[in-house]
Amino acid sequence: MAAYLRLYHSGKLKERIEAAVSLLESCSVCPRHCGVDRLAGDVGECRTFREAMVFSYGPHFGEEAPLVGRYGSGTVFLQIVT
Ligand code: SF4
Repeated sequence: MAAYLRLYHSGKLKERIEAAVSLLESCSVCPRHCGVDRLAGDVGECRTFREAMVFSYGPHFGEEAPLVGRYGSGTVFLQIVT
């Protein structure tokens, strides 16, 4: 079973989602550490609001074998919605 499915069934995925969303309150999601409140609609350097739009996703096999494993490391590309 894929690791993300184990997380989902255990309830830990929900906990991690809530923890990730809380980072948007004083945004420190990336190294820019803008500190803006994206939950209130403020935007930082990336110009992304509370929700980012997923542009594409899929398995990624372009890294070293320990990172890729059997099923790929996974990639998610986001689209900025203005
Ligand atoms: S650039 Fe965007 S994601 Fe990064 S800290 Fe600033 S608001 Fe957050």
